[in-house]
Amino acid sequence: MTRTDPDRLVMKFGGTSMGDLERIRRAARIVAAEAASGRKIAVVVSAMAGKTNELVAWTDGAGRPGPGVELSDDEYDVVVASGEQVTAGLLALTLRNMGLNARTWMGWQIPILTDDAHGRARIEDVPGEVLGAAMDSGQIAVVPGFQGVTRDGRITTLGRGGSDTSAVAVAAALECPCDIYTDVDGVYTTDPRIEGKARRLEKVSYEEMLEMASLGAKVLQTRSVELAMAKQVPVRVLSSFIEPDAPVPGKEWGVMPDKGGTLICDEEEIVEKRIVSGVTMSRDEARITLLGLADRVDAPADVFTRLAEANVNVDMIVQGQARTEGTVNLTFTTGRRDAQRAAELMRAAQAEIRFEELRVDEDVAKVSVVGVGMRSHAGVAQTMFKALSDKGVKFQAISTSEIKISVLIDAAYAELAVRALHSAYGLEAV
Ligand code: ASP
Ligand code: MG
Repeated sequence: MTRTDPDRLVMKFGGTSMGDLERIRRAARIVAAEAASGRKIAVVVSAMAGKTNELVAWTDGAGRPGPGVELSDDEYDVVVASGEQVTAGLLALTLRNMGLNARTWMGWQIPILTDDAHGRARIEDVPGEVLGAAMDSGQIAVVPGFQGVTRDGRITTLGRGGSDTSAVAVAAALECPCDIYTDVDGVYTTDPRIEGKARRLEKVSYEEMLEMASLGAKVLQTRSVELAMAKQVPVRVLSSFIEPDAPVPGKEWGVMPDKGGTLICDEEEIVEKRIVSGVTMSRDEARITLLGLADRVDAPADVFTRLAEANVNVDMIVQGQARTEGTVNLTFTTGRRDAQRAAELMRAAQAEIRFEELRVDEDVAKVSVVGVGMRSHAGVAQTMFKALSDKGVKFQAISTSEIKISVLIDAAYAELAVRALHSAYGLEAV
């Protein structure tokens, strides 16, 4: 376990929490309250909600290569990274107006070093010395999220939603915990808009959060959870719509997430073990079926090589008997964005791959249950299938990992399935 410095804290505010000057003032009050408790603070911010979309649209207008074309333009990053520079400056100004010592540290000043994959750069190194020294001298360091710099000094961005990753990377560099303030007050057993009885989880393990994030729970960028897990950064998800001046009893880090919120931490730190922690649902799925595929031993390899070479991510795969002798039906799923491209690839190679018919169905949803307890408990899948069949929900494909089971179903039943599973695993609020 990495040493975590309880005197330091990284606080991150998302786009909604930075949405306008009034919200920036509220964020500043939350920061001030934390600083008043004696902690040394670095704040990482997102651009104002909607700003990055606007900046991206401008780069399109100015002649950035169109959709579907690889992002290769380093000037794209110069434009889209600017949204965070604005909010960082505004927050620092607001903190100063409140009489606090604050200053901004741009990605290149820290520096947050990344590779040169513009538009989706990966962080390679964040030296903690500069920020650490500023914080030790009593300064609140304000850092624009989302942006980094290459070793030869070009601005990069970390991919959409990347300021969560910036915050975790800064916390890892400072060896301290990370509080992420957002527009929800934590991680729930499922989407409360679908199931009113959804419950906030007090703690959730990195691994579960990673599955949930990649399965459609949009609280945190998946990469930020990967990084938190790798560097053992305790991450807390909190609502920024709290009244910071209200007294918060015993709010020391590590006691209890008493401001509400959800602590994302190591599995060992979770005493109350659950078999299933959450149910997620994603409509960003499409099902593609090759009917009457020639039953050659290398047919699947042929199909999936073509998809991989075109950078199409395949998720679930099922192969079954077909009506015509000597053929099989091969079904796979992709993200919706890739479905038409995948279908065209298949059609273009129909003669070589040898299949009779191709079907694309976008009216599907993936419903998943996630929980580390699955590793040691039998019957988790059985409960899932029983709950779904009791509601008459048929599934079209299944995929599993050590801690998750996903089923692909007709999109019309998605919400019904979520509620049925939420109740079957006893996740309701008590
Ligand atoms: N502003 C960037 C985006 O909208 C990064 C972030 O907010 O996390 O993707
Ligand atoms: Mg975000």
